[in-house]
Amino acid sequence: MAFELPALAYATDALEPHIDKMTMEIHHGKHHQAYVDNLNKALAGTDSANAKIEDILKSISKFPMPVRNNGGGHYNHSLYWSIMSPNGGGTPSGDLAKAIDAAFGSFDAFKQKFAEAGTTRFGSGWAWLCLKADGTLCVCSTPNQDNPLMDIAECPGTPLLGMDVWEHAYYLKYQNKRPDYIAAFWNVVNWTAVAERFAKAK
Ligand code: MN
Repeated sequence: MAFELPALAYATDALEPHIDKMTMEIHHGKHHQAYVDNLNKALAGTDSANAKIEDILKSISKFPMPVRNNGGGHYNHSLYWSIMSPNGGGTPSGDLAKAIDAAFGSFDAFKQKFAEAGTTRFGSGWAWLCLKADGTLCVCSTPNQDNPLMDIAECPGTPLLGMDVWEHAYYLKYQNKRPDYIAAFWNVVNWTAVAERFAKAK
């Protein structure tokens, strides 16, 4: 069973005005599709062609670079679509809100740290909110299509929230203004989905 592009749970224009329709169409339909196709090509005929993407990423140091780039690309984008929603925004609640307060002092302090991780990532990459092995939350960023699940990650953990800061994620609408995209991103974060990932990861 080859890897497949997951369908979006909402229309490509549903995140307007924060994330525009054309960006979503190209980002999901072209960029993510290419990661899926190239991952399948890279794994064709190998023992890992039917493996779980998480298992591949956890031992990514044993794989060639195309698997790292495209496997990361597939996982990261699948997560990204799932943690956004037209009904997103607001603030987390319950256990997730408590864990964020415990780790960062407040939700606003967390937002600032996460935005900073995305803003200061030079070139292309991702900002993450992760659950660490010790049960606490952390914020970090990774280059390219790397992520904290990978055994080469400098900030290992289970990704709960991921924000794409590649230019293809925002350039059509925001051009060089990455901070404006990051500010808009908060309006579409699906905190229910993030809380579900947190509950499952614990
Ligand atoms: Mn992307």
